[in-house]
Amino acid sequence: MTSYSLDLGRAGVEKLGHRAVDFVADYLDGLSGEPTLYDTDTSALVTRLLDAPPERPGDLEELLTTIGEAAASGMNTASPGYLAYFPAGGLTSSAFGELIAESLNRYTAFAALAPGLVAIEQSVLRWLCGAFALPAGSGGLVLTGGSMATLPAIVAARDSRVAGEVSRGVVYVSEHTHHCIAKAAHIAGLTRAQIRILPSSADFRTDVAAVARQIQQDRRAGLLPFLLVATAGATSTGLVDPLEELGALARREGLWFHVDGAYGAPYQLTDRGRQLLRGIEAADSIVLDPHKSMFLPYGTGILLVRDEQALRAAHTADADYLQDIGQAGGLPDYAHLGPELTRESRGMRLWLPLHLHGVAAFREALNEKLDLTRWIHRELVSEPALELPWAPDLTVIGFRLRGDGAAAAEANRLLLERINASRRVCLSTTRVAGRYTLRLCLQSVRSHAEQAAEAVDLIRAAVHDLAASSGGRRTTTSAT
Ligand SMILES: *Cc1c(COP(=O)(O)O)cnc(C)c1O
Repeated sequence: MTSYSLDLGRAGVEKLGHRAVDFVADYLDGLSGEPTLYDTDTSALVTRLLDAPPERPGDLEELLTTIGEAAASGMNTASPGYLAYFPAGGLTSSAFGELIAESLNRYTAFAALAPGLVAIEQSVLRWLCGAFALPAGSGGLVLTGGSMATLPAIVAARDSRVAGEVSRGVVYVSEHTHHCIAKAAHIAGLTRAQIRILPSSADFRTDVAAVARQIQQDRRAGLLPFLLVATAGATSTGLVDPLEELGALARREGLWFHVDGAYGAPYQLTDRGRQLLRGIEAADSIVLDPHKSMFLPYGTGILLVRDEQALRAAHTADADYLQDIGQAGGLPDYAHLGPELTRESRGMRLWLPLHLHGVAAFREALNEKLDLTRWIHRELVSEPALELPWAPDLTVIGFRLRGDGAAAAEANRLLLERINASRRVCLSTTRVAGRYTLRLCLQSVRSHAEQAAEAVDLIRAAVHDLAASSGGRRTTTSAT
C-alpha cells in the first residue's frame, strides 16, 4: 500500500462508485419489504459499531455489509410505510446531486470562489422567493434544517427591531409553535420570560385576538413586542395559522413577521396549498424544509427573507485573512448571511432534482399526498370508534379512540402499539388540547395509494381487535 492510497484514482473511483451505486440500488429495491420498525435490542450492534477504525485497509464488501446492518435498526424513515414524524423518503436524485457536489468540493462561503456553484444555489433561492411573491431585495440561505434556518431569522429580527434593547423585547408564539423558535430565541440571547406562548383557539390555530391583547398588555408594561411567529403547517396537526390576519397584526404593530413553514410552505407549489398559505407573502422571513415536503434526504433547511440586507446586517463579519476575497457579480456571500463560514455547495441537492424531474413532478407528488390524506381522513371518519379532532389542511391526520381521561389515553397508547407492531406502517402520537392523539402523516415520496390503503386496513383491524379484547368494558366504542 503506497502512501497515495487516500486518493482513489480513476480505477478506484469507478470500482468504489459502481459498487456503492449497486448497494444503493439494491437497498432501494428492497425497501418496501423492509420493516418500518426494527428490533429494539440494538446493544450488540451498537457496541460493535462503536469500535475504533483499524490501522490497515478494510474490505469494501465487509464494510458495505456493516453499513447494511447499521441501517437495519431503529425506525426506517426511508420506508414507504413510514407515516410518523415528517417523512420524506429522500430523493435519490438529490443524493446523487450531493455526491457530485461533494466530489467537486467547491467553497461556497464566498461567491467569488465558486460563482457558478453559488449561482446554482442562488437560482433555487430566487425561484422560491418568487414562489412566495417576496419583493426585489429578498434573498435567503440554505442551511441544514428548519431549526438551523430559524436561528439567523431570529437574530435578524432581533437586530432590526430591538438592537440595544434586547432585554425588553418580546416574542409571540402559540402552543403549537415548534420548539425551535424558543431554542433559537434562547441562543439569540432572550430569556424564556421574553417568549409569550399563547393558547390556540378552539380550532387549534393561533388565536389572533389573544396575540393582539397580549401585545397591548406588554406595551403597557413598557416592553418591546418585536417578533410574531405564525406556523404554516404545525408539527402536531399540520394546520395552517390565519396568516393574513397575523401578518396584518404584525404590520400594524411594527413586528417582524416570521412564518414557520418548515413542513407546510412547499405546498405553495400547489393550487390548494397557495389558497391555504394566503398571506405568507407578507412574511419578513419564511423557513421551509426541503427535507420534509420537497422530499429531499435529511439535511436541508431554507431561510427566505424579505430583506436580504437585514440578514446581512445581522451576520456580516470581516477578518484580515479574508482580505483577498472579492465580490462576484450580483451574487451574495453566504458567509455574511448566517453563522457559518466554510460550507459545502448546498444548492446542488435541490437544483439537480428540480431540473432533472421538473417542478411539475414535485407539484404532482404534493397533490398526490393531499389527495391520499383526504381519502384516509374520510375512511377514518366513517369508523365510529374513532374521533378525528380536525379536518386536515395538509397531510397530517389526528385520530383517537373516543373516551376521556387516563383510560382513553391508555387505550390509545395500545392502539398505536398494535398498529406499529405490524411493522408495515409507523405512526406517531402527540397531545392536542391535552389529549393523547395518534398522528398519521402521509408525506413520503414513496408513500402512494397502496400504503394509504394498507394504513387504513391496519388501523381498522387494530381498532376492532382492541374493542374485541376489551370485551364489554369499552362502552364508548359501540358501532351503533
Ligand atoms: C420540523 C419542523 C421544524 C424544525 O425543523 P428541523 O429541520 O427538524 O430542524 C420547525 N418547525 C416546524 C413547523 C417543523 O415541522
